[in-house]
Amino acid sequence: MSNGMVPILYTFGMKREERQKQSGEEMIGRIFRVLERAMGAQHWWPAESPFEVVLGAYLTQNTAWTNVELAMANLRGAGAMSVEGIRRTTLEDLEQLVRPAGYFRQKAARLKMFVAHLDSAHKGLLEAMFAQPTEALRGELLGLTGIGPETADSILLYAGGHEVFVVDTYTRRIFERHGLAEKATGYEEIRLAVQRALTAEGGAEEGEGEQLSHAVTVHEPSAASRMARSERGRRYNEFHALIVQTAKHFCVKGTPKCEMCPLRGLLPKPARDAPKQGRLCRV
Ligand code: SF4
Repeated sequence: MSNGMVPILYTFGMKREERQKQSGEEMIGRIFRVLERAMGAQHWWPAESPFEVVLGAYLTQNTAWTNVELAMANLRGAGAMSVEGIRRTTLEDLEQLVRPAGYFRQKAARLKMFVAHLDSAHKGLLEAMFAQPTEALRGELLGLTGIGPETADSILLYAGGHEVFVVDTYTRRIFERHGLAEKATGYEEIRLAVQRALTAEGGAEEGEGEQLSHAVTVHEPSAASRMARSERGRRYNEFHALIVQTAKHFCVKGTPKCEMCPLRGLLPKPARDAPKQGRLCRV
């Protein structure tokens, strides 16, 4: 395993003599399969067009999705939910439309910059931009003001159907609590480890990853979620969405709710065996 990711030996409630050594990447694959079995398809991203994904990826920076929805409703109401719509809306008007998402001046300016780049580099056509090889386009997006790795990868995966995994704060929280990453582990290291892990086939161990007995709220299928994508792209899409669900419902910022979480059986053994409910994790 590469530097920074922590190669821990895991056990999965098997008899002592059956215990297996698992690499971090094997564990990541197992986490994906357990979550998928527990919670099913998540239908991400909630958007009706690739450009709506781009807008959402910008607007969701440093704010809750509920605020993004308010800004999106404004854009839709103003007929500005398209490349052409952003192009013809004045900067001042755009600022007011996206105001509910916070940092509205900065976000409006950055959306304008994105469309200006699309116009100059790709004749205003998203399809032309997404037709590029993944790494070339990733580099191009990362060169734009206001686009960091998480935003770039969200756009690549959810709007463009490219095979990249999105690492967010929820991924980091869960990986750190499961001993798969440390605070200092870099974005790229986590992203590439997940991508390698989800390339491999394999199923959950028998008895692992049962369906949740209670429902979690799932997005309605959207045009973006129904986009044709490769099996690898589908896995990256679903894993990111499943991680968000897990972090929101169980692996919360404060005391995690391990006793209810589908991943409780995959905690590193010393943490899993800790006696007090709610203090099961190494946090
Ligand atoms: S809530 Fe506990 S079991 Fe679930 S992901 Fe977080 S640390 Fe793991």
